[in-house]
Amino acid sequence: MVAKILVGMLCAHLLCFSVMFLLISKRLHSRKMGMDFFAVGNFLLGSAYVLQLVEGGPAWSAMSVLNHTLTLASPVAYWLGAMRFFGHPVPLLRPLLVFAAAYSAVQVLVQWSLGPVARYAMLSGMAAALFFVMALTVVYGVRTFARDLYGEMVFFAVLICGICVLNAIKFYKLVTGGLDAMQMDQQFQLVFYIYMSFLATVLPPSIVWLVLRRLTDDLRNIAARDPLTQLLNRRGLTEAVQRYFLSRKAEPVHLLIADVDHFKRINDSYGHLAGDAVLCKVAEVLQSTVRRGDLVGRIGGEEFVVISLETDAAGVAQLAERVRAAVEAQSIRIKGLDKALQCTVTIGISSRFEDAGAVDSAMRQADAALYKGKAAGRNRVEVVQPAYSNQFIASRSEASA
Ligand code: GH3
Ligand code: MG
Ligand code: MG
Repeated sequence: MVAKILVGMLCAHLLCFSVMFLLISKRLHSRKMGMDFFAVGNFLLGSAYVLQLVEGGPAWSAMSVLNHTLTLASPVAYWLGAMRFFGHPVPLLRPLLVFAAAYSAVQVLVQWSLGPVARYAMLSGMAAALFFVMALTVVYGVRTFARDLYGEMVFFAVLICGICVLNAIKFYKLVTGGLDAMQMDQQFQLVFYIYMSFLATVLPPSIVWLVLRRLTDDLRNIAARDPLTQLLNRRGLTEAVQRYFLSRKAEPVHLLIADVDHFKRINDSYGHLAGDAVLCKVAEVLQSTVRRGDLVGRIGGEEFVVISLETDAAGVAQLAERVRAAVEAQSIRIKGLDKALQCTVTIGISSRFEDAGAVDSAMRQADAALYKGKAAGRNRVEVVQPAYSNQFIASRSEASA
């Protein structure tokens, strides 16, 4: 009786969370992160336990064959869902159908040749093996593409290993004690059902939490990045500088503004799309030329910002010159254009500053230096002169007043 109540609750959990996964996957449109696969996995396992309730105990029938196939198809669906979550576009239906057909046929063969104990032992052994593969996949995910989810993935791997251990014990009990181990009211079966109920309650909200985390990370990223070049936008830069200055070992920084020279002519001569391609190339050059950890952003049409961390005045001047020369050396190939384009940048450098509140004034300083570089003929680097900077800022303030 206790076992029936436990299994009944397990069915209810699995099927309810299956519907929840399905609803979430419908809301996620093109990027479902495996939610639809998890819905299928829960549905298969829930249905298998419904069949077990109907059957009562071990038996040889079409329903029992279906039960075993559904039970093992569920970890396959979960595993494919995990691959989806980690970004691999694996299919679901075909592998699942192939697996179900093959496993049903193997069951019939094993039952006829080795008997019922072997068929039940095969179910436990296969379940232990499949969930072990699932745990390995989760660990692999942590080591490769989901490093930011270390704690969560270790938690999942430990819980999944619990199912492997219980199935391995069930396998041993079947091999040594026969089908009695499968009676629903056996103490070990009760422990098994309690653990499965615990997992069916704990895992789905944890998976939803993971998806929520991915979604909020995506939203934060979208809000902080420029869609054309994927560099930080003004907001992203400000946040990154704030984070940098919060760290205890933060050193003063310099800010550079690089503005593409005569960019309007590129747009006018070759079209807006060619202009966009040039902007992307400049962004690429900036990212590959700055030091690791420096912040790179695009703050307007053809204006880029670099915030150079932990560098002195001489170092930042060298960096700016490296950027200028690297952009000048580029031949930019554009689809549909016979000749490669070239462009140059003028760069203005601010004085050192050491708190996030000074970013705006550093931008004005770098802008003042840039203005001077443009006036002096472009394709050059200028460092702000304090007197010039103050005069420039004052005149701008007057103009805007
Ligand atoms: P200068 O050397 O003085 O900087 O001259 P410039 O032509 O580069 O500067 P100006 O400010 O006159 O022109 C900038 C142009 O950038 C004007 C605008 O149409 C274009 N622009 C702004 N945003 C984008 C964009 O996202 N894509 C493309 N292709 N063009 C853009
Ligand atoms: Mg320009
Ligand atoms: Mg400009």
